[in-house]
Amino acid sequence: MARVPQDTIDRIRDSAEILDVVSDYVELRRRGRNYFGLCPFHTEKTPSFSVAPDKQIYHCFGCGTGGNAISFLMEYEKISFVESLQKLAERYGIELNLQRDDGSSEFFSQLYDIHTAAVNFFKKNLASELGKKIRDYLKERGLSNETVAIFDLGYADNGWDHLLSVAKSKKVTQEVIKKCGLFTKTDKGIFDRFRNRLMFPITNRGDRVVGFGGRDMLGESDAKYMNSPETPIYNKREILYGLSRTKDAARQDRTLVVVEGYMDLLQLYQNGITNIAATSGTALTSGQVSQIRKFADTVYLAYDGDAAGRKAAITAGYNLLKGGITPKIVEVPEEKDPDSWVKESGVDSFKEAQAQARDVIAFHFGHTPRDLSNASERSRLAEEMSTELAGIGDEIIQRDMVRQVAERMAVDEEAILRIVKKNMRRPRRQQETPSVQSDTEPGSQTEKAECEIIKLLASGNSQVVELLRDNTNLETFTDPVMKTLAGYLLESENQNGNSNLSGALDLFQEKKERERASRLLLETTTEEDAHRVAVDCLITLEKNPLKQLIEQARIKLRGMERAGEDTSEAVASVMHLRQQINDLEAKRKTLLEAVQ
Ligand code: ZN
Repeated sequence: MARVPQDTIDRIRDSAEILDVVSDYVELRRRGRNYFGLCPFHTEKTPSFSVAPDKQIYHCFGCGTGGNAISFLMEYEKISFVESLQKLAERYGIELNLQRDDGSSEFFSQLYDIHTAAVNFFKKNLASELGKKIRDYLKERGLSNETVAIFDLGYADNGWDHLLSVAKSKKVTQEVIKKCGLFTKTDKGIFDRFRNRLMFPITNRGDRVVGFGGRDMLGESDAKYMNSPETPIYNKREILYGLSRTKDAARQDRTLVVVEGYMDLLQLYQNGITNIAATSGTALTSGQVSQIRKFADTVYLAYDGDAAGRKAAITAGYNLLKGGITPKIVEVPEEKDPDSWVKESGVDSFKEAQAQARDVIAFHFGHTPRDLSNASERSRLAEEMSTELAGIGDEIIQRDMVRQVAERMAVDEEAILRIVKKNMRRPRRQQETPSVQSDTEPGSQTEKAECEIIKLLASGNSQVVELLRDNTNLETFTDPVMKTLAGYLLESENQNGNSNLSGALDLFQEKKERERASRLLLETTTEEDAHRVAVDCLITLEKNPLKQLIEQARIKLRGMERAGEDTSEAVASVMHLRQQINDLEAKRKTLLEAVQ
């Protein structure tokens, strides 16, 4: 195991800003003290993923995932604890000296290395005699050698194990071969995944190759295009093809053209439209939108000129709006894609269409398959649009869109607004932890009291925290997660309780345990009489074990009576336990009076 000194971990955790880290991947909107967004770890339409900046933690009330900045990167990027620390250290300018390597950074560097080796191997193929027919094809498609070189296009030849030999010569480990996405495993062995394909390297933000798109060159494969699967270094939700090489052009006037295909991108790029990225034919995700927002405020969507392309453009348009980017949709001629269009009609016709690009509402109206002369069809379209508009975080933009829809529908703005509001459901109600369903069992009472104490300790109510510090007996905690959390919070130096709770989450190696912990810490206590609740919980925790002892003693007593044994001692011990319970009631009174 690579060991990172604890004080370095602490420094990284203290410097990392959870809001900042999560915002890279998730659109967050403020509501009260916390921020909410659509969970990146499960599919959802209404935000239940919440981030508490004051506590430096996140939790999803939909799927239960939760943690701190370090664990967020671990789960999102599928990387190790140390890798996550490395990323954060880099980001916040903290020097990180690994005491020993645990092999995980070796694993990742090998993943990158095999991709670099693959790019070089495919490029060599393309330049060789083998690649002649591919070079002819590229020429026929109108791509210059320069464009091919800028985007490192290559050729995966016919062999079953050519890239595999390259990997073996590089002494790449079996695990890397298994997980890099460049090979497939069948019952006959391991083979190159890409064969007879024109290869488009896909790069990440740092311009390192993390995957490939491959176009079938034999016409024999069912899939004309095949992409690398998701791997520890290739996160499809976040990467747009070409962006690492075009972002500077996008940044210049903060606009980006987004197309669907690799060829569309290359053709337009070659024709001087260099502020461009491609989705590789998948739906535009919120992660990709976040990436775009770093370089552009306006996006021109130039999707294929068919029903599927227009539908995808409309969806992408709304996604961009939700991410705070202004979408414009370019009208691509019927049955054309940007590549064939520009090749046929020249780039000027593209530029003209770009200048006339419409906003998403206008485009949606123009291309809905619904019959707008029919009233119920119209109202269905209004419903469709309102559902999308409900997801727009910026109220001003949302109102403007609502106005546009109302104008086009020739209906009252308020009517549209009502549908939007109806669709803007609040995040799912924060449910209690499942273990707290029954109030009647002593066990669940104990758990509930433990939960409440944690929440109160995390609440930052200094008077209550002080009361709990003086009176909590950790030995009465039955749940190990709660016990660990309570121990941390009770010893925490933060007198105000909640300045940074994220460190507590590093105490849990088990994902499930960390999730329970993050949830507890995030649930805010709205108790008006926090003091009384705290006292009740303290008393419950002490009382329940006594009650259980009495119950056991009673059973024993009955047995002894039946056996005709002397029970006086047992009776005395029950009496003693009863007395202790009475004492607790007295203690309750004293603690309650302490504040009055
Ligand atoms: Zn979730």
